[in-house]
Amino acid sequence: MPPVVLPTTTASTPPAEASDAKSVLEFSADELAGWCVARGQPRFRADQVRHWVFARRAVSFAEMHDLPAVFRAELESDLKLFAGRLVRHQTSRDGTEKLLLELHDAQQVECVLMREPDRRTVCISTQAGCAMGCVFCASGLLGLKRNLTTGEILEQVLRLDRLLPADERITNVVVMGIGEPLANLRSLLPALETLGGQHGLGLGARRITISTVGLPERIRELAALERPYRLAVSLHAPNDELRNELVPVNRNIGIQPILEAADEYFARTGRRVTYEYVLLGGVNDAPEHARQLAALLHNRTAHVNLIPMNAVSELPFYAPRSPHARRFAEILEQAGVAATIRKRKGADIDAACGQLRLEHARS
Ligand code: SAH
Repeated sequence: MPPVVLPTTTASTPPAEASDAKSVLEFSADELAGWCVARGQPRFRADQVRHWVFARRAVSFAEMHDLPAVFRAELESDLKLFAGRLVRHQTSRDGTEKLLLELHDAQQVECVLMREPDRRTVCISTQAGCAMGCVFCASGLLGLKRNLTTGEILEQVLRLDRLLPADERITNVVVMGIGEPLANLRSLLPALETLGGQHGLGLGARRITISTVGLPERIRELAALERPYRLAVSLHAPNDELRNELVPVNRNIGIQPILEAADEYFARTGRRVTYEYVLLGGVNDAPEHARQLAALLHNRTAHVNLIPMNAVSELPFYAPRSPHARRFAEILEQAGVAATIRKRKGADIDAACGQLRLEHARS
């Protein structure tokens, strides 16, 4: 079925907050309590504000009616709830929704809400652009602009949460949007802690997947935290020669050190590592590639997630036909390596990471 672009609704951003003010999402619980105390308020005001922001889905400080009016006025004049501006909101026929946000410095990032009967998963970005240069990916085509802040990462989750009906909650987070998450742990980790912590969204580490191009030092750093985040490693090739072509940063890394760091991750967290493998027709999808991949992974506690290439208009890659993809999965399974083929979501709204941002930048 050819992709159909649905009409775009451009929603409005909550009004009347100072334009260069900092977002309340940039504050840790402690910092916000300090901010309140500095304005002559008790520390618990911070809990009230956070409750409104995270649990009650407030879109403005004005509606936080259990706060004193003078304090609400101070919040409104000195802080913002969300620092970004919503520039596009697309809804797919399968219920997937995608937002394009513009940040204070005109950088744009994307985030996606995916619905299944028993789950609501959000996919979030960690950088504006990406430095990794994977040849099949839209996110890196314009290079890396900058890291996102903790507040900018949280804002994506909270804006998507506000699209859900009152009785539904986000159940899972995948950090698989634009950027390399392990290159921005400094902003990402506090955001994830907040989501799982008191007044967060109840999203503990087990419900969060972090996807990485495979930076061994950073994987070890994450492993050392011993938090049960699910780790996904984007392998995409079963040997260094091919991986060097598809994932250029591999030239300075190599597959073996990545597998060893991932083994350490499993040993320290007990979480089985997922290996992502984008299937590129005629490039990395031959039976021989599957056999090589099986040889790399068969004695590891691993799971392979095969992702048929999501076409990007200016890139010369395409997904193999589905019987071919299934054959690839069967070879892995027969060698004792668990494998699944990822379902496509939001195909009609270019929901693969980086595509909407790229389209906007180009136009
Ligand atoms: N930088 C991280 C996270 C962002 S990319 C990483 O490399 O894992 C998230 C996943 O989407 C990665 O596995 C990436 O390789 C994959 N991906 C990127 N572009 C894609 C495309 N056009 N089609 C299918 N998967 C793609």
